[in-house]
Amino acid sequence: MRVYLDNAATTPLDPEVMKEMCKVMETTFGNPSSIHAHGREARTLIERSRKTIANLLGTSPSEIFFTSSGTEADNTAIRCGIADHGITHAITTKIEHHAVLHTFEALEKAGLIKLSFVNLDEKGNVDYEHLETLLKDNERSFVSIMHANNEIGTLSDMERIGDLCEAYNAIYHCDTVQTMGHYKHDLSRLKAHFVVCSAHKLHGPKGVGFLHISHRIKIKPLIYGGAQERNMRGGTENIYGIVGMAKALEMAYADMEHHRQHIQELKSYMKEQLLESIPGIEFNGETEPDKSLYTVLNVSFPAMEMADMLLFNLDIAGISASGGSACSSGSDIGSHVLTAIGTSPSRPSVRFSFSKNTTKEEIDYTLTKLREFCLVNA
Ligand code: PLP
Repeated sequence: MRVYLDNAATTPLDPEVMKEMCKVMETTFGNPSSIHAHGREARTLIERSRKTIANLLGTSPSEIFFTSSGTEADNTAIRCGIADHGITHAITTKIEHHAVLHTFEALEKAGLIKLSFVNLDEKGNVDYEHLETLLKDNERSFVSIMHANNEIGTLSDMERIGDLCEAYNAIYHCDTVQTMGHYKHDLSRLKAHFVVCSAHKLHGPKGVGFLHISHRIKIKPLIYGGAQERNMRGGTENIYGIVGMAKALEMAYADMEHHRQHIQELKSYMKEQLLESIPGIEFNGETEPDKSLYTVLNVSFPAMEMADMLLFNLDIAGISASGGSACSSGSDIGSHVLTAIGTSPSRPSVRFSFSKNTTKEEIDYTLTKLREFCLVNA
């Protein structure tokens, strides 16, 4: 049996999305910047996709900027938001994705910003009072706090952070890569200046994403070149990717509640079964439905012999998942997220992440293999 439980890393392309992309590949090759009919045809597809995405998110097409990835969108928001508004202080968390953390670290190393980290509890929840103190005690800040953590699934409260940022005139960037297409974001209400999407996390193609730049903020381009994306991002557009992303988001919104219920049921089932059958099981991050991304369950196994072999063993059994452990002292290998929330490096952790395609049979098979491994190595 082959079981894919690494959907937070990437999701399989939906066949309907592929069909839509292939149709465009077969029929449309014009450069969207060309003004003749071939170019206009490609341009129309891009603008139609932009409109579809904007309508789903309750925003205006003029606020959607296509990028090559979530990473590029995060980089653009952070680097340009900071440089173009004279910001010298940034606030983030130690559990952000490296697209965010490494960008801030580079800016700090270059002497351009002072970086503050908001306190987190042991499940990765933001200490909102500490956030307010940091906002109060510093010059105008740039705040970057992800909506859902990609490793442990803990959710932040975008409304609360948005209100705090507004109260202290801060710029708010939210890495929504793991929640776009899984939750309904109403961007007409949310106060984030920047939110981000990566199509391959929602059954769309790889190598395409977008940055939503609220009309409340203006930035200069990160990538200079042609006049694409209204002069904000030079580079001929990935037309097939953009069409695929719009289709994937449309499909995600059309069936969101149904998929959410299915995935949440599988996650709760797996959690209960693990607790019942493997002594010493714990979970990293929040696991309750209102506080946790329903596609992710990060399991902390008891320290055991051959712990290093757990993921490898799952792989041999045909199960793809990801994980690791907290970084042990002096080593860079391991998860910066698990280290930040204080998970013991001796406990092996595995992130199981689900999608609409995951079945109960796959979860049962995975549970059987996990029980076998834990029994033999206890
Ligand atoms: N931010 C988060 C939270 C992610 O999980 C990822 C991908 O794993 C990214 C950003 C980067 O997205 P991309 O793979 O499109 O560069």
